[in-house]
Amino acid sequence: MSTPGPLAIVPFVSVDHMMQLIHRIGLEQMLCGLADAIEADFLRWPSFDKTPRVASHSLEGVIELMPTSDGDTYGFKYVNGHPKNMKDGLQTVTAFGLLADVATGYPVLLSEMTILTALRTAAMSALAARHLAPKRATTMAMIGNGAQSEFQALAFKAVCGIDTVRLYDTDSKATKKAMRNLAGRGLSLVACDSPEQAIQGAQIITTVTADKQNATILTDNMVGAGVHINAIGGDCPGKTELHRDILLRSDIFVEYPPQTRIEGEIQQLDPDHPVTELWQVMAGKATGRTGAAQITLFDSVGFAIEDFSALCYVRARLDKTGLFQRLDMVADPDDPRDLFGMVQRAAAGTGGIE
Ligand code: NAD
Repeated sequence: MSTPGPLAIVPFVSVDHMMQLIHRIGLEQMLCGLADAIEADFLRWPSFDKTPRVASHSLEGVIELMPTSDGDTYGFKYVNGHPKNMKDGLQTVTAFGLLADVATGYPVLLSEMTILTALRTAAMSALAARHLAPKRATTMAMIGNGAQSEFQALAFKAVCGIDTVRLYDTDSKATKKAMRNLAGRGLSLVACDSPEQAIQGAQIITTVTADKQNATILTDNMVGAGVHINAIGGDCPGKTELHRDILLRSDIFVEYPPQTRIEGEIQQLDPDHPVTELWQVMAGKATGRTGAAQITLFDSVGFAIEDFSALCYVRARLDKTGLFQRLDMVADPDDPRDLFGMVQRAAAGTGGIE
């Protein structure tokens, strides 16, 4: 039997290894590292292939593929969004992703991305807020206290210096869970009984709820002048969180307009409503926050380049940590034209006969 060559063996980062990697690096340090990695890739935005993600919708949710390439490395993520899963004890969002070498097309990394998506989404939110939120913002309201929520809170602490988080969820058990998980991490935590209470005194409002409907998590009268809104949960056609009037009062910042117009809060607006691409703000080609009374809105849906950045970040740390398995993933016959012969020779090892 032939032994696979080095290119045929693909490093695989399992859930267990991803968790160990986070603890090895430190969660907040990794969130900061991911924010920096995403920003570096956003600064070279024109060098990436870009396309809205490919979505397969069902009554219960959506399954999506998110590809991109910078010409040297290709990446994609498989991700689902099933808000009803939680009631059955399953995750709303699960994911895995892959990087490949553009020159050969061979995969170079396969990784779990359920946890990595929570980290990259939080890092992206905090990075956007670093450019858009009022300077010296200290308090964030977080409406929706599910799987993404603690990562969001800690990213805003580590990247933006937030010291107080006011939490609200329609299910008080979720708020209790988030309070418990975030205790002792240097944040002041306030459990709130209503979204109105949660947003009191907050300069940043994060909405991170899951429901497959046009919900109104925030109504127009709840949003005062000068706040930054980090809208995470509206990320699918027919799934939004903000009242349309809030959008009309806000300056809206997005990842990739062709995708956000389909999936984001702005699906509620005319297709030519002006929005600003975040990478342009980062690159100094467009303005972000220009005044104290301005409402800035990051209409987050999650874009392939953020996953690419996150996968590259993880890949760069594998050699030093050894936190991966080797997968025999690519067939590698000694003679590349003799795939059939390789399969035939394997019969000897199995005792099988034809
Ligand atoms: P989750 O199911 O674990 O948590 C959602 C929470 O929202 C639950 O605790 C639920 O009780 C609460 N909730 C529902 N309706 C509410 C309401 N009206 N007011 C307050 N709370 C309410 O889901 P999750 O994994 O935390 O994901 C949250 C959302 O973020 C999902 O919609 C998901 O699709 C989206 N998401 C977006 C990105 C992105 O890049 N933008 C990335 C990951 C997840």
